[in-house]
Order: sequence, then structure tokens, then C-alpha cells
Amino acid sequence: MKTGLFGGSFNPPHLGHLRAAEFFARAYALDRVLVIPAAAPPLKAAPAGASNADRLALCRRTFPAGPFDVCDWELRRPGPSYTIDTLRQARALWPEDRLFLLVGEDQRAQFRQWKDWREILGLAQLAALPRSGQGLSGFVPLEISSTQIRRMLAAGEDASRYLSPSALKYILERKLYGSGGLP
Ligand code: ATP
Repeated sequence: MKTGLFGGSFNPPHLGHLRAAEFFARAYALDRVLVIPAAAPPLKAAPAGASNADRLALCRRTFPAGPFDVCDWELRRPGPSYTIDTLRQARALWPEDRLFLLVGEDQRAQFRQWKDWREILGLAQLAALPRSGQGLSGFVPLEISSTQIRRMLAAGEDASRYLSPSALKYILERKLYGSGGLP
């Protein structure tokens, strides 16, 4: 089996994430893609505006089950979320699988700052997702970040073209990210 791992703050998860992960799932013929919200990303500020449970729920409302499987491994683990620990967990669970690590090009650029990056490369193949520009043949990235979406929501702007309808509903119902709630 071929398993992809796609980690991030997902604060909130958006259609840019989904589009990129769907493309790579097809391109690499992945059998499953684990979507893994991080508890405390080592190289970023702690997620604000939504709880761990909210981010998990939002991932479930953004990434459809099969091939996607939203998983709470990093949320359950105490301390910072290191990709190497997550990869070891996947390797222990699926000793025979080929593992693919899906990362955006911004993350790829700072990959050598990651804990045990050499060991990561021994465990998984890196797949870099373009975030802007022309992308790859058959793939045009959606140029959006969670930061931009949080700003739009706090300003009361319409973010519906960047979020799944169900994720947007969840955010507005709970007034996450300073959004004003449902109209
Ligand atoms: P923030 O704005 O809060 O920093 P983000 O939008 O970069 O968040 P993350 O949750 O940090 O989102 O991203 C998870 C992974 O998805 C990272 O590897 C990131 O590079 C990648 N990614 C984020 N947005 C896109 C996008 N629009 N297209 C392709 N990949 C993306």
C-alpha cells in the first residue's frame, strides 16, 4: 500500500490544502492519506482561534473519508509535534507500506530545520506541493493561507470560496476566529 501523510496546523483547513492533497493522492496513486493536525508545531506559534477539537472537526469537514483519514495522533501526544515521531508511528503500524510526506513548498524550503530530517528522508519520500504560480501539469494551486482566512473571518468578509461549506458552517456557528456568526 502507498500511504501519504499530510500534517499542518490546519487552523483552519482550507480548499488549498484539499486541492493539493487530492492532486498528489492521484499523482502518486496513494491508497490513503492521513491528515494530521499538529498539537504544537515546533517551528510556528501555537494555533490560536480554535481548539484542538475544533481543528480536528474542521479537518473532518474538509477532507472526505477515503482516501483521506483524519487522525489525532499528534493531538494525543504530549509536547511538540515532530514529524519524525509521526512517521515512526506510521512505519510501526504499516511496516510494508511506502510512505509519502506531503509538504507545501514553503515547508520544503525549511525542511533541514526539522528534527531528524535525514531520518525522515529514510522513512518517507517527500512530495512538495506548489502553493502559487502555474503549479504542475494538471495542478493549479489555490493561492490561499489559513492566516488570510482568519483575517477575512475576523473582518466579516466572505471566505466561502476557500472553505468547504460544512467547515464554514461549523466556524460561523461557533464564532471561531472572531467571525461574527451566522447571518
Ligand atoms: P498559516 O497561514 O496559519 O501559516 P497555512 O495556510 O500555511 O497556515 P498549514 O496548516 O500550515 O497552512 O499547512 C499545512 C501544509 O499545507 C503545509 O505543508 C503547507 O505548506 C501546505 N499548504 C498550505 N496552504 C496550501 C495551499 N494553498 N496550497 C498547497 N499547499 C498548501
